[in-house]
This record gives sequence, structure tokens and C-alpha cells, in this order.
Amino acid sequence: MPPRPSLIVAHYDEIALKGANRRWFTGRLARAMRDQLEGCAVEAVEPVRGRVDVRLGPTADPGRVIERLRHVPGVASVAPMWRIPRDPDGIDEAVLALLPGVAPASFCVRVARTDKSYPLSSPVLERRIGARIHEGLGWPVSLRHPALTVAVEIDGAGARCGLALTPGPGGLPVGTAGRVLCLLSGGVDSALAAWRMMRRGCRVDALHLHSVPITSDASQRAAQAMAGFLARGQAHVRLTRVCITDIQKHIALVAAPPLRTVLYRRTMVRIADRFARRARVRALVTGEALGQVASQTLENLATIDRVASRPVLRPLIGYDKREVVDEARRLGLPRAALADEDDCCRVYAPVAAAIRSDEAACAAVEAEVPLEALIEAAMQAAERVIVPPDWADD
Ligand code: ATP
Ligand code: MG
Repeated sequence: MPPRPSLIVAHYDEIALKGANRRWFTGRLARAMRDQLEGCAVEAVEPVRGRVDVRLGPTADPGRVIERLRHVPGVASVAPMWRIPRDPDGIDEAVLALLPGVAPASFCVRVARTDKSYPLSSPVLERRIGARIHEGLGWPVSLRHPALTVAVEIDGAGARCGLALTPGPGGLPVGTAGRVLCLLSGGVDSALAAWRMMRRGCRVDALHLHSVPITSDASQRAAQAMAGFLARGQAHVRLTRVCITDIQKHIALVAAPPLRTVLYRRTMVRIADRFARRARVRALVTGEALGQVASQTLENLATIDRVASRPVLRPLIGYDKREVVDEARRLGLPRAALADEDDCCRVYAPVAAAIRSDEAACAAVEAEVPLEALIEAAMQAAERVIVPPDWADD
């Protein structure tokens, strides 16, 4: 067993391309990491050249720190690191002492040397350390698909060795791209859409519309679970819940059944747009994918967008359902526990929604409903919750 690492190191990739703004981005990344590490007994989170170092306090649990950081957008990989001597012989000895007792299927050594005055070049050091391991322990080398990467970093101040890189989400730190409001249904599509925007640097607020008590509160619980997952990437999620039963009832009284789904969607977007205005949110986000269901045709999306006064982003627009489900599984999104009858979209909904809707027909129906007053009343009764991250280890 190697000793406890003194350091957890997070590397980034995309931020490295940011030129003059890089310090600002790494500062945001360090802040996002600090937020997620609250209560983990770390001593410091410091951006250093090319990476962010997390110094562990005496009681910190390295596994817990890694688990938290692997969800933080902007983090490309995380690894425990040990400080080792800086001279070549000292490096060889220290690396051998750190290796696990069980042989991996293959290994490789990667050296990153920022101190160019160091006597040996990176390739020379890689070959040297690799040969010591290969000859000493008989482990097979694989440069292309190593089961274990031994990472050695040397800079002006010292040297470190790390094993077992854990991949992070990559992308950009939350807070570098502004705030968006996601219409979060409790289903998997909108949760994945929100997550994708978070990975592009957006802070995500969430809005959930429901029809309790006509439906059960299952969709609320599912939306809360999705928000808890999303909060792993941005410390907490502001979730607003609004009951739209009254509005749906009024629309159902006057609208032809095929038009209702698009009318409900327009209502949702209207409400979202108003909350967005108050919270200086720059765009709305939904989980729609082109053609996935009848309400998601280009004509219907256009009719829906007409009621928004800011962009409606649909990061999954070109996804197949299969791709959504696969990605959600890979990321560990909560299983959507949302049965159809619990979804407010099914309340007063038609059997078959219109594939083509037009703005004029929708506007004509809406003119027969006291929409302003209904929306105002629904928003007045909104509930706001702050959802913390749902760490499995807490
Ligand atoms: P999801 O998996 O996100 O529920 P979906 O494939 O079921 O999506 P729809 O039910 O047609 O598709 O909903 C399309 C989008 O509208 C959702 O992705 C979501 O952004 C938004 N939406 C639908 N219902 C709600 C709701 N009850 N509250 C908030 N947003 C909703
Ligand atoms: Mg849905």
C-alpha cells in the first residue's frame, strides 16, 4: 500500500487553450472545486501552472475528494499525487516504492517537465523509469492502451508522482458562460440537456411544472433527484416548482385536443421566460430532440419559441433516444422514475398531438383564456428549493 497522498491534482484540457483569459478560467475552476470540497478537510485549492492542486489536511479522505472532483465541469482528470525527490535516482526509487503490489495488465510512464533546465529530457526519463519497472517487476509495457499510467511531473520547486488517473467531465467551469434556466421535467432528456449546458460553463437553474394533486408528486421527486445529480457539478441547484393545473384546465376547455400539447409547452416557456427575466438568465434549456415525439417537429418548436424573449437552447436536438439513454447511464444520472400518468404533460392531453401547429391558431385559443392572470397566479404560488448535491458517500 502506498502512503497517503499529500496532494490531489486536477488537470484541465479545454481551459489550457484560453490564452490571455486562462487565469480567469483557472480561478473559476478552483472556486468550483472549493465549493464541491466543502466539508472534505482540504487545506488549499490552488491553481498552479497547467493544473490545480488540492492540498489534503490530515483528516481528509483522498477517495472522497477524487469522487467529488470527477463531477466538476472543467476537470479533465484527477489523480492522487505524492511528492518525491527531484533528482533522477531519487525519482526512480520513489516511483518504485509507490507502485501497487498487484501487477497491472500493462503500464506506461509519462513525464511532464516544466523546468527545462532539468538535466534529463522527458523521453529519456520515461524510458529510464519504465525500464526500471519493467526489469524490476516484469510488468508489460503498453504505450497505447496502458492499464496503469505512472505520471511524473517535475517543475522548478520539486517533483510529484501520480497513479491511476480518474477522468472528469472536461469542458468549462460553471460560471464562465452565464446562467441558464432549464425546464426540468424529471425525465432523462431535460436532465441530460442541463448537464450538457453545465459542462459548457453555464450555471443551471431549474423550473419544474406539475399538476399535483391531479397527478401524484412523482414528477416532483424525479425532478428533485435530477437536480441533486446536477448539483454535483455546481454545488447546488435552485429549483422552482410551479403548479399549472389551472392553466391546463382553461386551455383544455377551449382548445382542440391536437393543439393542446403545444399550447401547454408554450405556457411552460412563457413561465420560464418570466422567471428568467427576474434572475438575469440569458437562455432557456429544454431536452427536446427533433422528431422524438409529435410535439417536437420543427414547426412545433418554432411555434413554441415564438413566446420566448430569449434563446431556447436544445442541446439534444440531434440525439437519438438510444444515445440519450446510453449517455445518461454512463454519467450515472438517476433512473427516471417517472411513469406517464404522473407527468403533467399527460393531463388533459390529446391522444395524438398535432405534428404541425401554427402560431395564429395557438394565439387565437390563448386569446380566449385569461392567460396573463393565470400565469401570474401560478407564479405567485411557486415554491423555491435549493437542492444540494446528492453525494452517495455522505
Ligand atoms: P424529458 O425526458 O426531459 O421529460 P421528453 O423526451 O419526455 O423529455 P417531452 O415530455 O415532450 O419530452 O418534453 C420536452 C421538454 O419540455 C422536456 O425535455 C423539458 O425540457 C420540458 N418539459 C416537459 N415537461 C416538463 C415539466 N413538467 N416541467 C418542466 N419542463 C418540462
Ligand atoms: Mg418527459
